[in-house]
Amino acid sequence: VTDVFSVRKRSVIMSHVRSKHTKPEIVVRSVLHGMGYRFGLHRQDLPGCPDIALTRHAKAVFVNGCFWHGHKGCRRATRPGTHVEFWQRKLEENAKRDRRNVRRLHQLGWKTLVVWQCQTTNERALRERLRRFMCPRGRKPRSVASP
Ligand SMILES: [Zn+2]
Repeated sequence: VTDVFSVRKRSVIMSHVRSKHTKPEIVVRSVLHGMGYRFGLHRQDLPGCPDIALTRHAKAVFVNGCFWHGHKGCRRATRPGTHVEFWQRKLEENAKRDRRNVRRLHQLGWKTLVVWQCQTTNERALRERLRRFMCPRGRKPRSVASP
């Protein structure tokens, strides 16, 4: 059972976890903007307060820092050598919360895309991913395989 208070409280909690206007986030925003999309930022009324909310399309993009959100198998997600158990627990909680928020968004009829920090350095690949996210049935270039 979720009430207004717990949702609001959770947003406050998330706002501490999720840092805003990071470099990777700005890269994703500028690519989407260049594709002609308009979007809202950090909408508090949506689960997980997505970095980018394309409200008209009911699509949300999370730009996740590899460390804080626990990007599996990524070298940027390497845990600090000290206080290993503390970090492990903290980062697992973050990842669990991320999954829960994505599930909630899906229940509300939204589609979600997670862009990891390390995936924002190749702007061409990023643009292609965003294009496919926005137009999944659109014509694909010959060189791009179906997922
Ligand atoms: Zn990564």
